Amino acid sequence: MTIEQDITCRELIDFLGDYLDGRLEPDRRRCFEDHLRVCRSCVDYLAAYQRTVALGREALASGADADVQDVPPALLEAIKASLRERSD
Ligand SMILES: [Zn+2]
Repeated sequence: MTIEQDITCRELIDFLGDYLDGRLEPDRRRCFEDHLRVCRSCVDYLAAYQRTVALGREALASGADADVQDVPPALLEAIKASLRERSD
């Protein structure tokens, strides 16, 4: 194995918000993108995350939560938690 895999799926998920906000250091960002090239499950997670964040923002903007009913509750909770953690 010659592939350097500096981050795990867990780390990728932990840093997903920073990645999407463009707040990752260049080195870490490269590791992140390398991981996404080889890890299908993280690609799927990223897509679900972006969809959920978009839905969540829409719901917040409109003051209603009807739109987020299609989102798995566990994923919604994970995203809410990560948004809370980032407001440090
Ligand atoms: Zn992964």
